[in-house]
Amino acid sequence: MITGKTKLLGVIGHPIEHSLSPVMHNAAITDLEMDYVYLPLPVQPADLASAMTGFAAIELQGFSVTIPHKQAIIPFLTAVSPIAQAVGAVNTVWRTESGWRGTNTDVEGFVAPLKALDHDWTQAEVIILGNGGAARAVVVGCTQLGCPQVHVVGRDPQKLEQFQQSWNHAPLSVNLQTHLWQQLPEILPHAALLVNTTPIGMYPQVNDSPLAADAIALLPDHAIAYDLIYTPNPTQFLQIASQRQLVAIDGLEMLVQQGAAALTIWLQQPAPVEIMRRSLRRHLGWEP
Ligand code: NAP
Repeated sequence: MITGKTKLLGVIGHPIEHSLSPVMHNAAITDLEMDYVYLPLPVQPADLASAMTGFAAIELQGFSVTIPHKQAIIPFLTAVSPIAQAVGAVNTVWRTESGWRGTNTDVEGFVAPLKALDHDWTQAEVIILGNGGAARAVVVGCTQLGCPQVHVVGRDPQKLEQFQQSWNHAPLSVNLQTHLWQQLPEILPHAALLVNTTPIGMYPQVNDSPLAADAIALLPDHAIAYDLIYTPNPTQFLQIASQRQLVAIDGLEMLVQQGAAALTIWLQQPAPVEIMRRSLRRHLGWEP
């Protein structure tokens, strides 16, 4: 029950109405019987400064950050974790006596299902499709896992060059090569992990795949296909990968695990991951 003492959490973004975060966080808060509520907080880009002043005034305890604020939020924070500095973006903010602090839990979310596989990542070459915000968290995650070589594939040579350059001053050493899509046939036969970070295949373009079956056929038999998209489930990309008998990982677990890591920071106690996972699966109609 919400009372006068209930503490406030939320998610800022624009648009925010499709965010699944309120579903999983409120399910977790209810399960933990904590006096908190997690709200969608629509904030236009031009209103971020006044929103931050308002959040301090109403004693918001913490919040998730989504598009378009993940980079813009950084100047408003008194401290940013090394992992968020490496990614160049913040997705989780919490209040302290000395001001707002920020981190990025997308990396933890991304690596969680990979760690569960008990694989030797020190021999694993990775191909990342796309060079946007999520690709940055994936680069950091693969580097943390110990992957010796990360290949990033994009369609715009200038953006690829900027992406490559951006790691020169990062607080971690990244072994990264960039490629255009037409170079994929040269690198696919050596990849242990192929990650889609583009929106290709996302609802409503559910019949699209970033790679066709003939390209996915070039992967080694032991390769893992990972799609950051969580609706539809499975995506066309993961359907093709499964037909090839590859291990297929969808984006829901990343969403759950990045949320669980954020909730652990805000509430200072372990998050009920299974409750969060099931609340989303039910909300999406994947289970009764
Ligand atoms: P973003 O910053 O906009 O990056 C998207 C990337 O995909 C860009 O590099 C873009 O290329 C590329 N791209 C888009 N359309 C393309 C096309 N038709 N052909 C080739 N490349 C294309 O977005 P983001 O924040 O990284 O998110 C990307 C995806 O990851 C989304 O589907 C999002 O839902 C998902 N995601 C999932 C989670 C999770 O928890 N599961 C977390 C974060 C993101 P250009 O740069 O050339 O435009």
